[in-house]
Amino acid sequence: MKYCRQCGAEMHDDAVVCVKCGCSVTEVDNSISVGLVILAVLIPLFGIIYWVVKAKDRPRCAKACGIAALISWGVGILLSVVISAGMSAAMAGGMMDAMAGNGAMYY
Ligand SMILES: [Zn+2]
Repeated sequence: MKYCRQCGAEMHDDAVVCVKCGCSVTEVDNSISVGLVILAVLIPLFGIIYWVVKAKDRPRCAKACGIAALISWGVGILLSVVISAGMSAAMAGGMMDAMAGNGAMYY
């Protein structure tokens, strides 16, 4: 025996619609799978695809995966920008040092 999540009326285990309030009782899996969220962080593309594909079947988990993927993606882009900016700054600094060094050698 299970109960309607809308009105709380008792209903058959294999009932699809509540006889009292008429709401459908198709089970929606609201659990969030931590493994999937971690996978979404590691592979943002997977998280976004999962979000799109599972938005109806597992709305909470799909949303969590999508958000995790977006955050991971954003952090990844931010990190690559910071690293490339830092590297180009370091390279420019190194070139300046080399030029200064050469200058010192010639003069
Ligand atoms: Zn009901």
